[in-house]
Amino acid sequence: MPLQISEETRQLAARAEEALKEQFARVDTIAQINAEKVLDAFQTHRVSESYFAGTTGYGYDDLGRDKLDEIYAHIFHTEDALVRLQFVNGTHAITCALFGALKPGDILLYAVGAPYDTIQSAIGIVGDAPGSLKSYGIGYRQVELTADEKPDLAGISQAVRDPKVKVVMIQRSRGYATRASLSVAEIGAICDAVHSVRQDVSILVDNCYGEFVETTEPTQAGADLVVGSLIKNPGGGLAPTGGYIAGRHDLVEGAAMRLTVPGIGKECGSTLGNNRSFYQGLFLAPHTTAQAVKTALFAAKMMELLGYQTDPASTQVHHDIIQMIHFGAPDPLKKFCKGIQMGAPVDSYVTPEPWDMPGYDTPVIMAAGSFIQGASIELSADGPMREPYTAYLQGGLTYESGKLGILLAVEALRS
Ligand SMILES: *Cc1c(COP(=O)(O)O)cnc(C)c1O
Repeated sequence: MPLQISEETRQLAARAEEALKEQFARVDTIAQINAEKVLDAFQTHRVSESYFAGTTGYGYDDLGRDKLDEIYAHIFHTEDALVRLQFVNGTHAITCALFGALKPGDILLYAVGAPYDTIQSAIGIVGDAPGSLKSYGIGYRQVELTADEKPDLAGISQAVRDPKVKVVMIQRSRGYATRASLSVAEIGAICDAVHSVRQDVSILVDNCYGEFVETTEPTQAGADLVVGSLIKNPGGGLAPTGGYIAGRHDLVEGAAMRLTVPGIGKECGSTLGNNRSFYQGLFLAPHTTAQAVKTALFAAKMMELLGYQTDPASTQVHHDIIQMIHFGAPDPLKKFCKGIQMGAPVDSYVTPEPWDMPGYDTPVIMAAGSFIQGASIELSADGPMREPYTAYLQGGLTYESGKLGILLAVEALRS
């Protein structure tokens, strides 16, 4: 065997896989259902070679781009969608959606605690970046979780009684928080709590890391809009960059006007030869997402066998692709990330060090050796260098390669 993996670690892996058989079968079933959903959308929209051609310049009449919007709308059960490589990341897509839905004097309400770190700068809760929502006079409030870290439905219903609240934002994934990621059913309960009080509030969901982890999406449970990154689940590992928005027509249009120009919206935006990657990536996405979930389960079980605390535990049901492993001290967190880096197909020879990432308020250590820069559907681990020194592990284009990454991380941890 060419990789430096001890017999002891390989035997531990066999035990872990034996224990995960039922979990893996459950994940495969979800992938099968989602693959059918995607194939149905491709066939309904008569995908053909001509969709892959794409445009340059203004990007008028980009057939593949416009059809892909329709296909996303089909998959997410929405009126409209906007899938664009011009979104530089997920934060950009989310911010466009917020600016599209809010005006000065309105209030944005986060329903389940603080937003993901980079969104905080965009809203203007931390830092004073020019052009934040705050700088345009858009207010912000958040409803904290209950004592047992669950959505506070009563608190949310109360908060939306203020008529200035125009958008409720639900973050599906935990991000760098410790709360559990939300299931689609839990998101549905929040939507009911909001809409039972006020019908005129738009509910947006930060869907990052959640796509295809379950067999339904938040827009089937009452959300008006979902937003996510194409270098996570729905890009299937092939999309080179970009983001998507799917939801009610007026909200998608508002986001499009913000992404490009009021009056132009969805009409411009050339695809520069990338349509094929978007289509093929979406086609693979249900499978790729399942590979990432299996890699997360395998990591959880291995770390549990070694005595570490995990969240979710290997026996629990995942609602996104993130796996938390609590190390309790900086040193094992760094070693684990070093091992993950050693398992990468790209840049396996470098050693990750904590650094001050733009948009984050503590140094973050990141292990990633990916084909697409920063793509976290590819195996990656990162952690803010603060208590409780938790690694957030995600991705794995194939279960086999994900597993090897975990095995090398276990070796590094033991060294
Ligand atoms: C990844 C992520 C985002 C967007 O992050 P980008 O790095 O800008 O793509 C937003 N919210 C959550 C919960 C995420 O996981």
